Amino acid sequence: MANQDLQSIDPRALAPTLILEQFGRVQDAMGRAAKSAGRDPASVTLVVASKTQGVAEIEPLLRSGHRVFGENRVQEAMAKWPQLRAAYSNVELRLIGPLQSNKAKEAIAFFDVIETIDRPKVARAIAEEIARQGRSPRLYIEVNTGDEPQKAGVGAQAADVFIRQCREEFGLTISGLMCVPPVGEQASPHFALLGVIARRNQISDLSMGMTADFPLAIQLGATHVRVGSAIFGARAR
Ligand SMILES: *Cc1c(COP(=O)(O)O)cnc(C)c1O
Repeated sequence: MANQDLQSIDPRALAPTLILEQFGRVQDAMGRAAKSAGRDPASVTLVVASKTQGVAEIEPLLRSGHRVFGENRVQEAMAKWPQLRAAYSNVELRLIGPLQSNKAKEAIAFFDVIETIDRPKVARAIAEEIARQGRSPRLYIEVNTGDEPQKAGVGAQAADVFIRQCREEFGLTISGLMCVPPVGEQASPHFALLGVIARRNQISDLSMGMTADFPLAIQLGATHVRVGSAIFGARAR
């Protein structure tokens, strides 16, 4: 084996069988959480968070029939997904990382769901691109439920006004809310708060819960959980 081939083998990369095994465990845990909350397991969708994962890690899941994936970066998604989409039909790609208004054009063209609308400038750019391209991904608003200054998302206090602005001023259909609770805090109050904001604004989808807390999120009404490291192992970056 040439030296270059050796270097291209990432010792952290998981074998396909292990990825599928861990994926199965996550699905089982989701089913248990839904049943114990008296919910239909089919009412919760697993969004596989595939940021930093390559085609070799993602493809076993596609081959096994999974279709819903979340990516954090527009450029990274556009680099690796065209070939996968060409090989597997009905892939649903969701943008779960921060969106800049100068990426709205690519995001509208490429994603099926955009989960991270969080300010008027982005909402306006999204509305303009939907009109220009005639393509309408489903749209979620990200809420910074912990009001962390460095974090993306509209503040919890400002969420109602922003949701109304998106609908009335920009003409957007808002289908869901998304949150990432503060690290090191109990997640449940944040999940509960997201549910309250969604209900009073007649919003149906709740994207909440990651590797550390997806069963809890399901208990508190998540319709979509975004799970990465429980399936692929810890990320190097
Ligand atoms: C990476 C990421 C996830 C998945 O996180 P894990 O803890 O690896 O499951 C979910 N949501 C967002 C926004 C992410 O960036």
